[in-house]
Amino acid sequence: MYDYDLLVVGSANADLVIDVERRPAAGETVLGGDLAVHPGGKGANQAVAAARLGADTALLARVGDDGHGRLLLDSLRAADVDTVGVLVGGAPTGVALITVDPSGDNSIVVSPGANARLTPGDVRAAGSLFHASRVVSAQLEVPLETVTEVVRQLPPDARFVLNPSPPRPLPAEVLAACDPLIVNEHEARVLLGDACVSEEPADWARLLLARGPRSVVVTLGAQGALVCDSSGVTRVPSVKVDAVDTTGAGDAFTAALAWRLGSGAALAEAAGYAARVGAAAVTRRGAQESYPTAREVESL
Ligand code: ATP
Repeated sequence: MYDYDLLVVGSANADLVIDVERRPAAGETVLGGDLAVHPGGKGANQAVAAARLGADTALLARVGDDGHGRLLLDSLRAADVDTVGVLVGGAPTGVALITVDPSGDNSIVVSPGANARLTPGDVRAAGSLFHASRVVSAQLEVPLETVTEVVRQLPPDARFVLNPSPPRPLPAEVLAACDPLIVNEHEARVLLGDACVSEEPADWARLLLARGPRSVVVTLGAQGALVCDSSGVTRVPSVKVDAVDTTGAGDAFTAALAWRLGSGAALAEAAGYAARVGAAAVTRRGAQESYPTAREVESL
């Protein structure tokens, strides 16, 4: 018996957003609109997306002992995410300082803060969470050695799903555990580096699979996704929607895919469901605020 459908290991950030007429140049001060503070970070986003769909979800993360940390804990609990694994203290809560101009272009400075202090020791200390979870998902907004320790702590029957964002070269040990490795176009290009000689996403998927993961998913925005495993490449169609804001769509996709896999769905079937969740998420503004319930996904 499992206590959790999904354990997410990753970041939790406060996104501090100010609308500006023009983003400031070096040495310049500009006046902007009112500050908006949103809960974010890829780990927290994935956890909230899964819980909103009805998955029993826990998050292993670190926030600061400060107002932003309390805001994040409150929003996670309001979404029904189990926060027993959210550690507090050691550094200020991670923040993203975001200015957005009228054309929608933004400038972002991220201070990882407490996310950078989520250590391999924290992962080892959370061993019971791993044994209670059917699927474990991670991203790369926490240290790579922490994600490597996640892979070492996986019980033999747990499934591991990784979205390597922001992308960086991955140790063979981490790649071998991924089932699947989920990348968007940018992440695929960075991971493949000089080997990315083709413009065909199906080729990226095959090349990435050859590096060791048991399966690969390439997300393609409005074009849907590709799934790839030893039986070949399958296209997953997108759902046609009026996109308003794509922020956090990838996190919703990953969370939904991980949850469906844990429920026994085959990879292409789980990706089809995740594509519907991603499509629903782009029809509303924001990241966590945009995530659909299972009922909303059904009616899409
Ligand atoms: P982000 O970084 O913005 O969170 P991403 O680049 O990691 O997202 P995308 O490929 O943009 O990930 O989106 C993930 C999934 O969400 C897609 O595979 C698709 O199924 C769905 N999706 C995203 N954008 C759209 C869209 N405009 N219309 C329909 N579905 C979409």
